[in-house]
Amino acid sequence: MKRDIIVIGGGAGGLAAAIAAKEENKDVLLIEREDRLGGILNQCIHNGFGLEVFKEEYTGPEYAEKFIEKARHLKIDYLLNTTVISLTKEEDEFILYTSSLAEGIQKYTSKAVIMTTGCYERTRGSIVIPGDRPKGVITAGSAQRYLNIDGYMVGKKVFILGSGDIGLIMARRMHLEGASVLGVAELMPYSNGLTRNIVQCLNDFDIPLYLSHTVTEVVADEKHRLTQITIQQVNERFEPIQGTEKKFDVDTLLLSIGLIPDVTLLDNLPVETDPLTKSVKINQACETSVPGLFIAGNSLQVHDLADNVSKESERAGHHAADYIDMKRTKEKGIPVQAGDHILYVTPQYIDFSWGNAEIICSFRSRKKIEKAALNVTQNGKTLIRKRLNFVVPAEMETFELNIEDIDGIGDIRVDLEVLS
Ligand SMILES: Cc1cc2nc3c(=O)[nH]c(=O)nc-3n(C[C@H](O)[C@H](O)[C@H](O)COP(=O)(O)OP(=O)(O)OC[C@H]3O[C@@H](n4cnc5c(N)ncnc54)[C@H](O)[C@@H]3O)c2cc1C
Repeated sequence: MKRDIIVIGGGAGGLAAAIAAKEENKDVLLIEREDRLGGILNQCIHNGFGLEVFKEEYTGPEYAEKFIEKARHLKIDYLLNTTVISLTKEEDEFILYTSSLAEGIQKYTSKAVIMTTGCYERTRGSIVIPGDRPKGVITAGSAQRYLNIDGYMVGKKVFILGSGDIGLIMARRMHLEGASVLGVAELMPYSNGLTRNIVQCLNDFDIPLYLSHTVTEVVADEKHRLTQITIQQVNERFEPIQGTEKKFDVDTLLLSIGLIPDVTLLDNLPVETDPLTKSVKINQACETSVPGLFIAGNSLQVHDLADNVSKESERAGHHAADYIDMKRTKEKGIPVQAGDHILYVTPQYIDFSWGNAEIICSFRSRKKIEKAALNVTQNGKTLIRKRLNFVVPAEMETFELNIEDIDGIGDIRVDLEVLS
């Protein structure tokens, strides 16, 4: 029950992290609560995975299988149907308790932990929708799982609230399965999904997208089943505008209103959190403020591409392996601050004790900007200035910093400048 590295979560992130750590000859255990490896990829039966990593396009399950095959080839130990229910650290050792039907409660210890637990969907409770509380209002990800894994059609007349990628993909999926998809309402004046998904999932099937609209009423019948919704246009303060009501007779309302990194397991550890990512702060090695605790994938920041999850998690896996061999004193590091028009940036610290580790930074913009300049500065010195076209909050951007350019004191600032 003593391991070098335990990886929690066997999705795209956990698989890549476990493979990278195992390739460094570490003793790795991967723990997954579902009955198969692959995570969210298993329910994503559409194409669009792997272009970056494999230069070929795969479905989600095919993409997952590439990594699962490699994990098997490397003889990585993994547990299925096993949930990590507690994670603490005493001195230099992590202590994990797991729960499974087959084994009951078990205790494991490790020198390092990689968290790749993914994210969860925001539900109706996180936004205000007046009206009844009927059956038929579910998150788009749950509907996707019911349809693609369990084989249940969730409805016949469907409306979608929120234009996140899962909602867009489900609009197409439900249409192809014979449902009437009456529209997608998005509160913001722009979509929150990838442009390719707007084109391939809505435009190609004439499914209307109502920007600057929200659902303002939900009506149920006497059996508590959804029968009708009302959408309304909103003003710049997101208040519904009187007289813009449109009613739709529907039996299903799918919610695609945001994803939140799942870091609930970290509640008992003194990790520094980041209100901007709704996860925790890391340095360039994906190491949190707790030495030896690494995090990657959607539990660190919600990614739009699985390939980026794999690449980030692979780095976390290598660094967790290095951590075990390194004699180093962890530093808090130089803060990296999200500046003008930046929603968040990772890593939040650059720690010189990680020597020459690559510094791959990711960020999202706060708003849609047609022509922008990315400015990365420290102590009035420009580290990076680069022109970006069509920056949108839905698409994560990356840049690389060189450790030799960074001063040992002074915050690094990342700003987006709007160009005319
Ligand atoms: C609907 C949808 C469509 C997408 N479409 C595309 C696309 O076309 N192209 C593309 O590149 N990307 C796409 N993505 C993005 C990509 O699939 C994901 O970002 C990526 O797969 C997430 O990987 P992950 O490992 O971070 O999380 P997950 O896949 O969510 O894996 C997390 C795993 O951790 C497990 N877990 C959580 N807590 C515990 C615990 N306590 N104990 C044990 N196990 C635990 C979960 O069961 C899960 O298996 C899509 C995502 C979604 C949701």
